[in-house]
Amino acid sequence: MLSLEGVTKTFDGFKAINDLSFYVDEGELRVIIGPNGAGKSTMLDLITGRTRPDIGKIEFHGNTDLTALNEYQINRIGIGRKFQTPSVYTNHTVFENILLSLEGSRSVWHALFSRLSSTEQDRIQVVLETVGLNDKGAEKAGSLSHGQKQWLEIGMLLAQNPKLLLVDEPAAGMTDEETRKTGELLMSLAGKHTIVVIEHDMVFVRQIARTVTVLHQGGLLCEGTVDEVQSDDRVLEVYLGRKKREKS
Ligand code: ADP
Ligand code: MG
Repeated sequence: MLSLEGVTKTFDGFKAINDLSFYVDEGELRVIIGPNGAGKSTMLDLITGRTRPDIGKIEFHGNTDLTALNEYQINRIGIGRKFQTPSVYTNHTVFENILLSLEGSRSVWHALFSRLSSTEQDRIQVVLETVGLNDKGAEKAGSLSHGQKQWLEIGMLLAQNPKLLLVDEPAAGMTDEETRKTGELLMSLAGKHTIVVIEHDMVFVRQIARTVTVLHQGGLLCEGTVDEVQSDDRVLEVYLGRKKREKS
């Protein structure tokens, strides 16, 4: 579904991404962890065309060269991204927020002031139910809790029906209960969508992860199940500064 091969990205001589290769299968729910500055967000920037690699290949479905497309084109072929801070239209209702994000080109004017087809109504309802906001449709998005705003934004992404969803630290700032619900939501979306989640919260990672990829200094440190990466000496060293005891 998605592949990065030998990708390097330098900022003023500093390698934010360093010869990184990374592969995700269709329908997977992949979690990426790594210390601050490991290059996680930069990796999403590279996939979504926000920045360009110096060298390396980034391909979608094995045949679309993402480095040749701009951000808008990458979004149109089915790659949606959710940034860490929610950006919803606070003065519009929850329902209107989803409506304004619906797949297909429609102007804001048309979206808000023309009659909705029953297909559109149904589609919005399904999205609201999926993200657990079906009883909040008439409320202003600005009145939602932080967690609910995050779910609304995931709903806005879903309204575009992306094949690949890239989600940057969704649980940041959430309560434990919101975090758990977010995990359930992402797990329910996997399969139908391919999902790449960046996350710090290890309780959350443990809840949702099948395969975890650990980034460090722009490269792939290790990959495996949560248990495998949590007991990997290299990961312990990076996170805890713990060194493997050397034999004398
Ligand atoms: P993470 O998301 O894993 O915390 P980032 O991808 O945000 O890490 O950053 C990786 C490194 O690249 C950091 O050292 C950061 O300062 C640097 N970096 C990221 N984006 C830019 C940029 N646009 N210009 C300069 N340096 C950047
Ligand atoms: Mg980041």
